[in-house]
Amino acid sequence: NEGRSRFLFFTPSMDVDVRSREESYRELRLALADCDQQLRVHYQPIYAMDDGRMVGVEALLRWQHPEQGLVGPADFIRSAEESGLIEVVGEWVLRRAIRDARAWPGLRVAVNVSPIQLRSRKFVETVSQVLAENGVSPERLELEMTETALMAASGDVARSLSELRRLGVACALDDFGTGYSSLSHIRDFAVDRIKIDRSFVNAVATVPGAALVEAIVSLARANGLRLTAEGVEEQEQYAFLKRVGCHEVQGYLLSRPVPAGEVSSLLQGSRRA
Ligand code: C2E
Ligand code: CA
Ligand code: CA
Ligand code: CA
Repeated sequence: NEGRSRFLFFTPSMDVDVRSREESYRELRLALADCDQQLRVHYQPIYAMDDGRMVGVEALLRWQHPEQGLVGPADFIRSAEESGLIEVVGEWVLRRAIRDARAWPGLRVAVNVSPIQLRSRKFVETVSQVLAENGVSPERLELEMTETALMAASGDVARSLSELRRLGVACALDDFGTGYSSLSHIRDFAVDRIKIDRSFVNAVATVPGAALVEAIVSLARANGLRLTAEGVEEQEQYAFLKRVGCHEVQGYLLSRPVPAGEVSSLLQGSRRA
């Protein structure tokens, strides 16, 4: 009650919302001041279906929170985007991943990028600079972006994508099928790969689920795209995906995301096999 004729409504839950949001931005800012201490990148192996070899890894961000322990990106990427901190976070992940990649000759490294990063004018320049600084060939880098990210994007983003392509960097459409899906994205954006979302992989045991995945695979193949299925947890899913012609797989069945130090031994194991 602010006086005679003015009232402000303020509910306890609003208070908590605003405070916790500000608190989380503050913590994130602190973490960023100390990236190398608090942020970690784990890598999930990606395997080729034809010979079972490990062909790539996906970089997945973790936050070693001083009180909460290891926090997953689902809990803070949105805050990072809303607060604008994602540009710094994203660049840090890119540098870390490219630097780590030097130890894994020939392996492809996939890095997730936020639409906010894509919209930045400096993005392409940063990518090519980081690759050059580390002597990592652009062909080894793949950037993963969601359809929603591409939709939100403007003509500038289409231009960035084709510049990245000219550099030799590949682009993957992440979580395919979950966003404002439009089959025309496959044609309109110069993507090299489709990542079939885990929710579809999960449903292949059902008749409509299986039909949907089969349709995605044949559509992608007919357009000359590579396919990776994510979230493969069961042998039956693996067998199905192999049968319908999916090129690569990723999921707990094969490996969880691991710290950088464990990638080399997984790589050697897969190459001996
Ligand atoms: P995503 O890009 O779809 O990454 C795959 C997520 O599925 C990862 O979760 C991974 O740990 C999880 N996963 C892999 N295999 C399986 C499986 O067999 N079963 C199940 N249930 N889950 C599996 P994570 O690491 O928690 O990442 C969540 C999301 O956060 C990512 O989804 C991505 O959208 C985002 N993210 C992660 N790292 C970054 C980053 O560096 N930058 C940006 N912008 N986003 C990131
Ligand atoms: Ca991804
Ligand atoms: Ca995904
Ligand atoms: Ca996902």
